[in-house]
Amino acid sequence: MHELSLCQSIYGITDRAREGRPVVTVRLRVGALRQVVPETLTYCWGVVTDTTPLAGSMLDIEPVAAELSCRSCGATTVLADRFLIACGTCDGADVEVVHGEELVVASLDLAEPASAVRS
Ligand SMILES: [Zn+2]
Repeated sequence: MHELSLCQSIYGITDRAREGRPVVTVRLRVGALRQVVPETLTYCWGVVTDTTPLAGSMLDIEPVAAELSCRSCGATTVLADRFLIACGTCDGADVEVVHGEELVVASLDLAEPASAVRS
């Protein structure tokens, strides 16, 4: 279950970025080629954060479609099937993955610090 180790690295990134502030939502961009199951990722996030200051925070997972750039004809192909990595225009296999392998913490939604809440 590689989602667990992913969550551990997401935790490390988030914990550094939050600078001690409480986090409500962690927004992720996850490429289609990462083969991440969102439900499993969410479950693992709960496990990893359970006894930490990030307990109760949510993951917001934005999928990123896989996209190829062909070195032969220059065409760009958006992959519908991640198991068929070939150019959609010339069928060539000399392709470069331009999107789909990312797994990034895009942003954090922080809770208002208690001292800043106005009544
Ligand atoms: Zn091509």
